[in-house]
Amino acid sequence: MAKRVYLFGKGITEGNGGQRNLLGGKGAGLAEMAKRGFNVPPGFTITTEVCTAYYANKRKMPAGLNEEVKKSVAAIEKHTGKQFGGHKNPLLVAVRSGARESMPGMMDTILNLGLNDTTVEVLKAKSNNGRFAYDSYRRFIQMYSGVVLHIERANENEHDPFEIIISEAKNKRGFKHDNQLPEEDLKSIIEKFKKLVLEKTGKPFPSDPYKQLEGAIGAVFASWMNDRAILYRRKYKIPEEWGTAVNVQSMVFGNMGDSSGTGVAFTRNPATGENEFYGEFLVNAQGEDVVAGIRTPLKISAMATTPHLENCYKELCDVRKHLEKEFGDVQDFEFTIENSKLYMLQTRNGKRTARAYVKIARDMVNQKLMTPEHAIESADPEAIEQLLAPVFHKESYQKAINANLLLTKGLPAGPGAATGTLAFTAEKAERWSTHGPVVLARVETSPEDLRGMLAAKGIVTAKGGVSSHAAVVARQMGKVCVVGASEIDINYNTGVLTCGDKSIKEGEFISINGSTGEVLIGKIDTAPSELIQVLIDKTMAPKDSELFTEYDFIMKLADKYRKLGIRTNADQPEQAINAVAFGAEGIGLCRTEHMFFKGDRIDYVREMIIFAAEYAEYKSKLAQRPGDAVLLENEYHIPIMHFKDALEKLLPIQQEDFEGLFNAMGERPVTVRYLDPPLHEFLPQNKDQIEELARKLNVPFERVSQTVHSLHESNPMLGHRGCRLGIVYPEISEMQSRALFRAALAVAARNKKSPKPEIMIPLVGFERELELQLEIVDRVAKEEFAAAKRTLEYKVGTMIEIPRAAIMAEQIAKHAQFFSFGTNDLTQTTLGMSRDDAGHFLPFYEKEAGIVKSNPFATLDQIGVGKLMEIAVQGGRKTRPDIKLGICGEHGGDPASIEFCNGLNLSYVSCSPFRVPVARIAAAKSAVKAMPPPAEKKAVKSVKAKKVVRKVRKK
Ligand code: ADP
Ligand code: MG
Ligand code: MG
Repeated sequence: MAKRVYLFGKGITEGNGGQRNLLGGKGAGLAEMAKRGFNVPPGFTITTEVCTAYYANKRKMPAGLNEEVKKSVAAIEKHTGKQFGGHKNPLLVAVRSGARESMPGMMDTILNLGLNDTTVEVLKAKSNNGRFAYDSYRRFIQMYSGVVLHIERANENEHDPFEIIISEAKNKRGFKHDNQLPEEDLKSIIEKFKKLVLEKTGKPFPSDPYKQLEGAIGAVFASWMNDRAILYRRKYKIPEEWGTAVNVQSMVFGNMGDSSGTGVAFTRNPATGENEFYGEFLVNAQGEDVVAGIRTPLKISAMATTPHLENCYKELCDVRKHLEKEFGDVQDFEFTIENSKLYMLQTRNGKRTARAYVKIARDMVNQKLMTPEHAIESADPEAIEQLLAPVFHKESYQKAINANLLLTKGLPAGPGAATGTLAFTAEKAERWSTHGPVVLARVETSPEDLRGMLAAKGIVTAKGGVSSHAAVVARQMGKVCVVGASEIDINYNTGVLTCGDKSIKEGEFISINGSTGEVLIGKIDTAPSELIQVLIDKTMAPKDSELFTEYDFIMKLADKYRKLGIRTNADQPEQAINAVAFGAEGIGLCRTEHMFFKGDRIDYVREMIIFAAEYAEYKSKLAQRPGDAVLLENEYHIPIMHFKDALEKLLPIQQEDFEGLFNAMGERPVTVRYLDPPLHEFLPQNKDQIEELARKLNVPFERVSQTVHSLHESNPMLGHRGCRLGIVYPEISEMQSRALFRAALAVAARNKKSPKPEIMIPLVGFERELELQLEIVDRVAKEEFAAAKRTLEYKVGTMIEIPRAAIMAEQIAKHAQFFSFGTNDLTQTTLGMSRDDAGHFLPFYEKEAGIVKSNPFATLDQIGVGKLMEIAVQGGRKTRPDIKLGICGEHGGDPASIEFCNGLNLSYVSCSPFRVPVARIAAAKSAVKAMPPPAEKKAVKSVKAKKVVRKVRKK
């Protein structure tokens, strides 16, 4: 049987930092710190595999686990010289969850476990501190009752029933803080707690430490499936199968008096990336006090002058340096000081804003503290888009300041500017956000507010520091966030936010700046980010923007690693130019029909459509009766004239559009998709518009309305569209080909640079379809090359967007120089779900029934649709080993789908211009992830690192 419990602590550590999957992030971090000589209270980790077994076993502990736990407790007893439940020197433990990825505030920790009416007295005697002993006891009962016995507040506007008891005791004495309560008060609070437990559960609070431990371990496993955890996992795509580990660790006490305390810190500023020690602590406090915003914590630097803690501060500064060196990244760590002795309780790679990410990665790579691979691997590609987020518009902001609309300044916790209607509850924020931007304001947030935070553009809290729940979560979500705006008063009952003599009502506009902490009344315009100013608007010189310099460093690094090319979906020269500025290497999809809607060209398109059917009729008759050519021409002369005339008018316009694109793209490839949507999409639908068109074309109203009717389809998605248009009306493909080659030739002659057109035939399912279209393209190319007396390279390929094309890829590849996966249609046709109609049931499939893990139109259905892609890739390469493969569906900008494409070894992904930076990073990240692990290098590094620690520790 696999090992289920791993010890950690000085000299007894069995696991290591590489075992995150098995030990969870926290367990692995504790093991690694203990191994590397940091002072970690000893304990043990129950593996994530046990969690999996627990769920496989209908939420029951696997057989034999209890015995293993007892053995491990014995090992810790031996190590510490204390006894669990013992009456001489009782061992108390913390029971802590810890999944592979940290899930802040999602799972609950229980401290001081092992206390009961007897051990508390021993603790009192040993520490000679009754207040401390009873404070620990009341905390234990409170946490255990919440987490294990589920005695919780009824809803988000209510207080925790235990907090109510504490508040009453404080109010009675006129105290502000918990730590002012004397021993007698704590004792009577504990009695009230116990009574509450008995009332609510019908059973007395458990006093047997092993019973307590069993309950706590079970509760940690069970909490993996609580609503908050499920919601969080869905948002961050953490698989349910992972499970959580449980850490049981001997307690150290930050609540022993003024030479004790607890805190959390980052080795660098996680909001800005600045290389500064960043953290908070509280004297005489325990556990969640710092993050819960109960007392306002002190800045870490204040510890330097805090009596009894001056030396600890020095030690912490050393720890800060060593952590970065040892772990190769910014660390977010937790510590507790017991009687002036520093203990490390947790470390992990710090979550950071995108702004901080680029700065930290650039700085730490340059300082040789971080490997370039890690810089890429630790990127959150999705978050890169935050860097493009707006800031307040200078003038609009100044106006607000002049009008005295600045309400207050809190702590900046999530950069960027947000403006929106003020909402006080998660429920309202969620509801209102469907109509417009919302800013959520809470006294402090808790995990129950997650839904509202997701929905809001910005978050502001009155209480809490920079490591409060709101700040941590907002930073990760990339939300604009201001915390600890302590001057504001949020009245949930009246729905008014007040600050001095100013106020805002719920539903009115509020603006916040998460980079400065400012909170303002009303709506403030926002301005583009510096990246946009440098790259797109060109209103700022690259060297003047620190952000740009760092961004550019990371992007260039990413380009070194990625294997996938990055293209863009663009059909306007301006979009193409923007995409190139963001790093696009070509156009992966130009939807030609988008050009048809500009100006009055739509009228020519319509003219063509109105007469297309009759023209086709003429042609088929002509094919049957070639001898009657003259006769037929006379009979059909009106449709022939209109149809040809329309195409002739469209030709130069389309050519001009293509020239624009070729100009913008230089020698980069430009993939042009031929006409794709069903023709009725171009026609007017209401009577007035039909009348107007008839007048313009000088034809009877009936003739237009009849065409509109006859083109109506029951399932346009599966109707006469894609190459089926070019097959029935080859003149359209011919016109598009001519326009394209003329444009390319003209630009080549003018610019002395050869455009690289790639012609893409949509919705092919049959080999013959592509063959017929290819004949047209090649013939027109030959004609145009002859006329221009020069040739150009071009490619012809097809989209793979219906299952038959994927299945027949081997045959289709005979005529295709490239495949581009049109995964929007491929998903629609494979799932038999129309993207436009799926909204009625997909959310249910995803959120309620759990049939799909995420929206398949946003993130590729890798095992289903992906399977078809694999088949197509294989087939295509079999016929044509050098076939070029790309993706141009919406999925081309989705990091998870990009990783899948990297695995298929596609040549490029194509996405919308503003997603290009995201795709560049995602492509690099998937390439780094796919690299074999540098096993030997790591081993060498840890030996060296150990030496460094020893050296520094001696000092
Ligand atoms: P989370 O995963 O929510 O961060 P933790 O397991 O880290 O939860 O526990 C929360 C807090 O409890 C820690 O920050 C620390 O202050 C306190 N804590 C955890 N373990 C111990 C311990 N062994 N001794 C003292 N305090 C502890
Ligand atoms: Mg923690
Ligand atoms: Mg398509």
